[in-house]
Amino acid sequence: MKIDILHAGYCTAPEHIAIHGGRWKTIHFPAMFALFRHPQFGAMLFDTGYSYRFFDETKKFPKRLYRWMTPVHLKEEDLVVNQLATFNLQPKDITHVFISHFHADHIGSLPDLNCSRYVYLPHAFSGLRHLPPEEDMKHAFLRGLIPSDFDSRSQEVDITKPILLSEEYAPFKTGYDLLGDQSLIGVELPGHAYGQMGVFARDDDGKVFFFVADAAWLKRSIVENRPPHKIADMLFPDPVAYRQTLGQLQTYYLTHPDTHVIPSHCEETIQTLTTKAH
Ligand SMILES: [Zn+2]
Repeated sequence: MKIDILHAGYCTAPEHIAIHGGRWKTIHFPAMFALFRHPQFGAMLFDTGYSYRFFDETKKFPKRLYRWMTPVHLKEEDLVVNQLATFNLQPKDITHVFISHFHADHIGSLPDLNCSRYVYLPHAFSGLRHLPPEEDMKHAFLRGLIPSDFDSRSQEVDITKPILLSEEYAPFKTGYDLLGDQSLIGVELPGHAYGQMGVFARDDDGKVFFFVADAAWLKRSIVENRPPHKIADMLFPDPVAYRQTLGQLQTYYLTHPDTHVIPSHCEETIQTLTTKAH
């Protein structure tokens, strides 16, 4: 499988919110997505970054606050569909989109991927589905980003059938074989959002990538087991679980120095891994 690390836009926020003891400086948080080209299943994505719909959906109050808190920067060439074109791919070629969680910076391009199957943990969406619209903000949920035929193309992960993971994945013990061939293993990373899913993938060179979504905003959080500023707890459904997950990620990181552990918004990590020429 070929793996490319890309991003669709970025937002800015103070570093000290993202990591306890960080600088007061405003830094960039790229909205990462990954392209998998699998010999059997074809082209697939992990998350989809931002799209211009973010601006449409945040025109009015109170959702406009979302823009103020995390100002978004997005250019035409950043759009997922335009980046796919540089790989000679069209949206219809994307067979699956693995959704880590349903925050706007991860699902911005779902409506463009109008032939794909959406794969996610059921509880990542079940709580949002019946949310009264006035509570959307609390969950960073922009319902206008959900395509109208979402249900017919959803393929929720069957959480009644976890697999036991080998020592290779320790301390993660159970996961989900997302395609049935062990090429993509989903693991739940609780705390940041309901049903947040991380994904392990291995490329043609045998290199392991661990996409940890927003279980940490910066790689340094994992390396130092250093959580965000306390104020960020307001954004998390389960701050205690968040810290447990972060501890597990640090253990994994320290014992797997050859794995690329990739938080979705860590600019340093994303820049290092982004493929410039396709
Ligand atoms: Zn995010």
